[in-house]
Amino acid sequence: MKIHCDVIQDLIPSYLDGICSEKTKELVEEHLLECEQCRVFVESLKTDLIPEIPQIDAKKPWLKVKR
Ligand SMILES: [Zn+2]
Repeated sequence: MKIHCDVIQDLIPSYLDGICSEKTKELVEEHLLECEQCRVFVESLKTDLIPEIPQIDAKKPWLKVKR
């Protein structure tokens, strides 16, 4: 069964967020092994996502407020 790249690229955001099912994860990973176009898509999403995540926890000035 060949899955269209559009379908895989639809699933990739959930895959990267870790909110997809195990089956979906397998499906995406299997496709990525064979499809450079979708690997590039994943990489472009990752570089978009990664800088944002640490920033959320980077500074919590309100935790240091003294009574
Ligand atoms: Zn593909």
